[in-house]
Amino acid sequence: MTLPSLQDKFGRTIKDLRISVTDRCNFRCFYCIPDENIVWKRKQDLLTYDEIVLLTEVAVSLGVEKVRLTGGEPQLRGDLELLIARLAKIPGLRDLAMTTNGVGLKRRASALRSAGLNRITIMCDSLKPDTFKTITRRDALQSVLDGIEATIVAGFRPPKINCVVIRGMNDDEVADFADFARAKGVCVRFIEHMPLDNGHQWDRRMLVGGREVLQRIQERHQLVPIDRDSPSETALKYAFADGAPGEIGIIAPVTMPFCGACSRLRLTADGNLRTCLFSMVDHNVRDLLRRGETRDQIAQFMIDTVLKKKAGHRINEPDFIQPPRTMSFIGG
Ligand code: SAM
Repeated sequence: MTLPSLQDKFGRTIKDLRISVTDRCNFRCFYCIPDENIVWKRKQDLLTYDEIVLLTEVAVSLGVEKVRLTGGEPQLRGDLELLIARLAKIPGLRDLAMTTNGVGLKRRASALRSAGLNRITIMCDSLKPDTFKTITRRDALQSVLDGIEATIVAGFRPPKINCVVIRGMNDDEVADFADFARAKGVCVRFIEHMPLDNGHQWDRRMLVGGREVLQRIQERHQLVPIDRDSPSETALKYAFADGAPGEIGIIAPVTMPFCGACSRLRLTADGNLRTCLFSMVDHNVRDLLRRGETRDQIAQFMIDTVLKKKAGHRINEPDFIQPPRTMSFIGG
């Protein structure tokens, strides 16, 4: 008998679940979250840890192998280590990762590792304190750099560093980030700016395409392509031709969309499944849970939701409509 799995109409199988554990964030990145007048979700609207664990168990029973905790800023959710310890014990879950801004990792990285977290991705959009502050609206570069070091010291695999490249703000630092990757032995992943900002001010002129990023790095360092770990991996990956440590990743959802190999499903902090960052519809699984529906019914709901996944994100189509939720409220 074939076990049910999460397959969409286009033959893509869902293996990755991204779980936002909170909508709150201590950064105010201009391309992501409003600077003020934010209405946070009420505590009772957020999924509890019991609910997150149950939903993850159901997802894993349907073939999900990787879970990534995100937000908002996941470290702001109280007692995150308790959730990690419970998720890490789910049989069949092969990989448990977290995307974070890195603040606070200096004192917390070891505890996260002991709890069972496998991998950490840390955002860092600039190596210059002033630019960092302009983008994130927080004076926190040193704390992020300390977090990167702490992750390595705690024995995690070298963290991936996410850098959103914005023309006129940090695009002059692309090659410096490549130097940083070499010096620290980390993978720096350059991400294209996507239309998910709060003010709906996204403008193609601010976008620095993945090819341009590569060209700028290659003016300083020769790169050689390396295989992706899996076809659904979002980043094109490169090593340094001279054998230096570190890697470069290019995540180009706008100029080189990778929807055809997408294996992701998202769960928002308030318990909605989303089939794509750019989808206009939320699928409320929290209320099903709270109505007491069985695991089988929840599983069927996940299966039906995945069948609604669209072929692609349509950013480049003339009729593209930006979703109302920003990245921080969906879970990046
Ligand atoms: N707080 C965590 C962090 O800082 O990584 C997790 C959430 S954050 C929304 C996840 C990632 O999404 C970050 O690397 C952030 O830079 C990226 N991001 C947010 N808005 C974006 C946008 N409009 N375009 C591209 N990347 C974006």
